[in-house]
Amino acid sequence: MKQHTRLMIVVPCYNEEEVLHETTRQLTAILQRLEGSGQIASGKILYVDDGSKDTTWQLIKGFSKENGKVEGLKLAHNVGHQQALWAGLEWASAHADAAVSIDADLQDDVESIIDMVEYYNKGIDIVYGVRKERKTDTFFKRNTALFFYRLMHSLGGEIVYNHADFRLMSKRTLQALVSYPERNLFLRGMVCTLGFPSAIVYYDRKERFAGESKYPLKKMLSFALDGITSFSVRPLRYIVVLGLLFILISIIAIIYGLVRFAEGQTIPGWTSLMISVWFIGGAVLTSIGIIGEYIGKIYKEVKQRPRYLIEECTEEDNKSYKP
Ligand code: UDP
Ligand code: MG
Repeated sequence: MKQHTRLMIVVPCYNEEEVLHETTRQLTAILQRLEGSGQIASGKILYVDDGSKDTTWQLIKGFSKENGKVEGLKLAHNVGHQQALWAGLEWASAHADAAVSIDADLQDDVESIIDMVEYYNKGIDIVYGVRKERKTDTFFKRNTALFFYRLMHSLGGEIVYNHADFRLMSKRTLQALVSYPERNLFLRGMVCTLGFPSAIVYYDRKERFAGESKYPLKKMLSFALDGITSFSVRPLRYIVVLGLLFILISIIAIIYGLVRFAEGQTIPGWTSLMISVWFIGGAVLTSIGIIGEYIGKIYKEVKQRPRYLIEECTEEDNKSYKP
């Protein structure tokens, strides 16, 4: 069956001059195969230059001249991977029917794009690329990542395990996503909250083709913290629990202190200090927690996320989501 899909592969790039030639070669080949087999009508590669300091933008401009499939967006300054990807997805939501996001460094398996498009053509809206194993990651990165996914889950954040930002999204999910007005982006979490029919494609994650990671430990930690704080207000709630626990301990401390006092086993001042330290600690923590509850509510309000997204409607002309 001939498809009418215009596919856009969105690639954020930050100082990626070493890999871009190869990335362009491989992605162009994939798009040509998809066009040849009729799985898509046309394909484009959209490079988003995230304020690179090397020749990345010159390369992108050169590619777009010689290769009709390449387009480029140059951001005025470095805004970080998530924001750069957002810029590309926003562009794609207006200019394409489906978008695949992938890193420039070819760590994700470009062959999987074919499987993703196959799912898309069966009517699936979101196809997550999930790494099978993390053999190529260091012991440290593997385990910190595992810990992070577990923590996110226990805090109630919906997130697909071992899925980074390699995924396909249909036009209606792109439009739904860009209607989220928040500024703190944690895309892999946000996409999961959209709902819509989804599927998973598994692949082996490779070594970086060239160059070095643009995500040093510091950026990784701040990304993880961002993920948790943009998705969960539970840490605030835990403060209330901690406060109540302290008050409970203070009751035990009061009884214990008074008994010791009655037995005459205490030096002057110990009982009153003991009692007040625990009780005041508990009271302060509980109060902070209660304030936290309100801050959590304010936080949800200012995000102004859409209250719901419609997946389907029995009335023909309303079939897809319109923001
Ligand atoms: N990236 C970006 N802006 C940044 C940092 C990274 O656009 O400030 C891009 C980078 O060019 C790459 C992707 O984000 O395409 C993922 O970065 P990287 O491969 O260095 O991360 P890692 O795979 O090591 O986690
Ligand atoms: Mg990488």
